[in-house]
Amino acid sequence: MQAICVFCGSNEGARPDYALAARALARELAGRGVTLVYGGAKVGLMGILADAALAAGGEVVGVMPRALIDKEVAHEGLTRFVEVDSMHARKATMSDLAAGFIALPGGAGTLEELFEVWTWGQLGHHAKPVGLLNVAGFYDRLAAFLDHQAAEAFMRAEHRQMLMVEATPEKLLDRFIAYQPPRVEKWISAGER
Ligand code: AMP
Repeated sequence: MQAICVFCGSNEGARPDYALAARALARELAGRGVTLVYGGAKVGLMGILADAALAAGGEVVGVMPRALIDKEVAHEGLTRFVEVDSMHARKATMSDLAAGFIALPGGAGTLEELFEVWTWGQLGHHAKPVGLLNVAGFYDRLAAFLDHQAAEAFMRAEHRQMLMVEATPEKLLDRFIAYQPPRVEKWISAGER
């Protein structure tokens, strides 16, 4: 895998576990020669993740809408910084650049980005793996709720299984490498999105 996109909080969260996990994921990506694609901010877990990937010798690509450059404090030391026009363009660009997607702990923005790429996968817009890095049980209740949605027949079991949940970066990335997307009747090209 050449590049993985990581969604994560623009805050650091209340526990040191979150920053530790962001650093561990960054080192794991850099160690495997995988480029990190992320939102381009210097703040919160986003900044911690990018700094750790750079410190480990990894390549980091930030993607940020012009309107957010001051608000989220753009990281100025990245390998590459892509300025886009909108939030929608940010997600589409991050999606095009990456071969898989991981969410670390975060807030509404992190979930919004995660759910969009996961649902794009369900619809067959891409065949890339999507996973949650479940740091200190942060996503336990979300995973349980998603199981509930599948049990209540609002989601197909294979779509639920598309979203991987693992507690360590090593396990999650190993599963990404082995990932076989479920069969989808018609794969939609990027131009049809
Ligand atoms: P949060 O998890 O709320 O701290 O946000 C993490 C990142 O998600 C930040 O870079 C936000 O700018 C970004 N974000 C929030 N909402 C959206 C959206 N609708 N589309 C793309 N990125 C978003």
